[in-house]
Amino acid sequence: MSTLFNHSFDTVTDILDALEAGSVSSVEITKACLDAIAALDSTLHGYLDVNGRALQEAQQADERRRGGEPGSLLGVPIAIKDILCVRGMRTTCGSRMLEQFVPPYDATVVSRLRQAGAVILGKTNLDEFAMGSSTENSAFGPSRNPWDPQRVPGGSSGGSAVVVAACEAPAALGTDTGGSIRQPASLCGITGLKPTYGRVSRSGLVAFASSLDQAGPMAHTAQDCARLLGVMAGRDEADSTSLDAPVPDYVAALKGGVRGLRLGIPSEFLDGLDSAVRTCVESAIKTLCELGAEVRELSLPALKAALPAYYVIAPAEASSNLARYDGTRYGLRVDGPDVIRMFKETRHAGFGPEVKRRVLIGTYALSAGYYDAYYVKAQKVRTLVRRDFDRAFAEVDALVGPATPQTAFRIGEKTDDPLSMYLSDVYTIAVNLAGVCGLVVPCGFSGGLPVGLQFIGPPLAEDRLLRIGHTFQQHTPYHQQRPDLEALTRWQAV
Ligand code: GLN
Repeated sequence: MSTLFNHSFDTVTDILDALEAGSVSSVEITKACLDAIAALDSTLHGYLDVNGRALQEAQQADERRRGGEPGSLLGVPIAIKDILCVRGMRTTCGSRMLEQFVPPYDATVVSRLRQAGAVILGKTNLDEFAMGSSTENSAFGPSRNPWDPQRVPGGSSGGSAVVVAACEAPAALGTDTGGSIRQPASLCGITGLKPTYGRVSRSGLVAFASSLDQAGPMAHTAQDCARLLGVMAGRDEADSTSLDAPVPDYVAALKGGVRGLRLGIPSEFLDGLDSAVRTCVESAIKTLCELGAEVRELSLPALKAALPAYYVIAPAEASSNLARYDGTRYGLRVDGPDVIRMFKETRHAGFGPEVKRRVLIGTYALSAGYYDAYYVKAQKVRTLVRRDFDRAFAEVDALVGPATPQTAFRIGEKTDDPLSMYLSDVYTIAVNLAGVCGLVVPCGFSGGLPVGLQFIGPPLAEDRLLRIGHTFQQHTPYHQQRPDLEALTRWQAV
């Protein structure tokens, strides 16, 4: 094993231990990440931009530590999905529309990471405005899955999943509107958490579908996700939808195991599941039973209608949110002979095909003649989904099941078929509609590709999900497996 990919230092927890012991500095850790980026990222394209000040920030963190200053992430380098504003760095949202946009402020989650002492490593690739499931909708080219570079990493937070899986960062922030943290975490073999709606501030998160969007942590372990969530969570005056609920000590809450915990498997989640994925998920559930959890199957019938409802609600909100990109305020402007032509030319040049498709679907669903038939109907389905979850959580402490129907698919395999692309979120989307929380942990491999296991909990039960995930990870090896990074440095597209 070369020193470049030193796996004893690739989790947030191990890095913090080493920093505290004084056996390594933040500058050294940050430099190791930058070396890994230099060696791998021309192949993987997890990053859109690397922070030119990362080493300086690391040096400052080292000084803070020497001065005895506290900081629960002091000196830990973290990558940020390029839909979260980082002051002074381009925030493109994977779109030509914002290619040159440099926000004058940090998203609240980013400023909280900074206060905790984190070093910002760079901005990660994503599907344009977080619309997609493969990162192929990025205007700047797709990212590649480190387990097989011919395959997608998932999306839309594909870049964040890639950089963690390939040890180009110990952790990253993603965002999840219908599965965009959990689906790429599953396809790249890492751990990712979608918090309860309102648990984390959305201020400075560029809006896709405001009633669904949440930022969350992506890392190798549930323990690392707990460390990040503790910093990110909590009320923010700048986001009136952020919850005022107290933020528990998520790391302390990892202890306690799963004995006596009631887990439910939604029978709807077993339809259409690839058989190898199913085998991994079933064996993971067996492990949880052996650890003392009680597992039963139950039915959430409205889940079947969640995907179509999402593909009305999310585009409807997107069509309204994206109306701001018209060439007048910020972002791209393409001039025309009059103001309407300027709007048209700007949008024509600035948005990619998937974004245009969503704006058209959303505008249609919200138009006077169709509003009741589509938008109102979808909102009713949303209520039914929420009620199904409420009923389920009266019987069980959490739900467990697959995260995605298949392992990572080939680049280009689904780009001509939006419907089959949309179906890769069939197990994640209902969680966003209901506003509850979901955690994905790696639970096995099929044909050399990672398989994820999803836990779903009631509102604000992140501590419970993280405890289940942590207990699972203490008894399984999957989160410790890494792709062959040495081979990736030599990989070339054929
Ligand atoms: N893949 C889903 C979509 O395309 C979800 C995206 C997300 O969670 N941001 O809308």
